[in-house]
Amino acid sequence: MIAIGIDIGGTSIKGAFVTDKGEILHRFSLKVSKDSPFEVEIKKLSDLINKEIKDNHLEGKIKGIGIGNPGIMDMDEGLIIESPNLPSWNNHNLKKEIEKHVGIPVKLNNDANVAALGEAKFGSGHKYKDLIMITLGTGVGGGVIINGKLFDGHLHQGAELGHMIIKMNGRECGCGRKGCFEAYASATALIKDTKAMMKRHPESLLTVIEKELNGVDARNAFMAAKRGDKYGKKLVNNYISYLGEGLLNYCNIFRPEAIILSGGVANEGEYLISRVKKYLAKHHYGMKGSPEVDIVISSLGYDSGKIGAACLVLFE
Ligand SMILES: [Zn+2]
Repeated sequence: MIAIGIDIGGTSIKGAFVTDKGEILHRFSLKVSKDSPFEVEIKKLSDLINKEIKDNHLEGKIKGIGIGNPGIMDMDEGLIIESPNLPSWNNHNLKKEIEKHVGIPVKLNNDANVAALGEAKFGSGHKYKDLIMITLGTGVGGGVIINGKLFDGHLHQGAELGHMIIKMNGRECGCGRKGCFEAYASATALIKDTKAMMKRHPESLLTVIEKELNGVDARNAFMAAKRGDKYGKKLVNNYISYLGEGLLNYCNIFRPEAIILSGGVANEGEYLISRVKKYLAKHHYGMKGSPEVDIVISSLGYDSGKIGAACLVLFE
């Protein structure tokens, strides 16, 4: 069985033919312009899908097309209600428009949910039944898998894992509330904290690393900490405690077997994981008596969105 998985980003659309074993047979991509009308962009995408099906001799063999899209959608109807990166797509029906041009059934879901589903089926999460995946990137997004199935939520809206409050009246979040997990644990938050630390302590190694990296990103703090810089260590320790507090909430509410971390900050790998595990072990509800939670790094990386989108069709 083969499905097409489509991952819609702010500047490009990526697609793949995915088998029911989670193998990618072929990848394709398309640049997308936020200034171009919805109909024009979808016609381009549909033409590409039709061409790829023909070129790969897969006519009549595709079960469906799964799409992971950021923003708020009416999943059953296929309607985009709010698309933060591509506002010209608002109030357009993505599902029906592609079905019209390609003639294959389309299923939609939120990009974060879809990535979680991909990891759960074919990535780091394949050996767990209950898991949470979160992406530590520009924001904090994620999905919840319960007993092997994506937690869909009312009207298929999933869970907004980045927007639980970890500090009441805390930092302003992009969502309009204060103190959200995302405002502390995203790569964006870590970069902000790093810049503030550099301003207060220009003598720190952070300034040297900024020149090496040609700027400040989520890596600076970790690089400085690993080289023994006390301000880098302070940043990392603070970051781990913010991340740890959020993950503890997930542990206590969902009792998952594992939490999968993805996104830019997750590239810190074992250095990050060992510290997060230590934090969780110390503060986990029930302490020694509570079930241990594995913390693992996503294994599918940028393919999780495409594979997960295909899973919407392969495992419906
Ligand atoms: Zn928020």
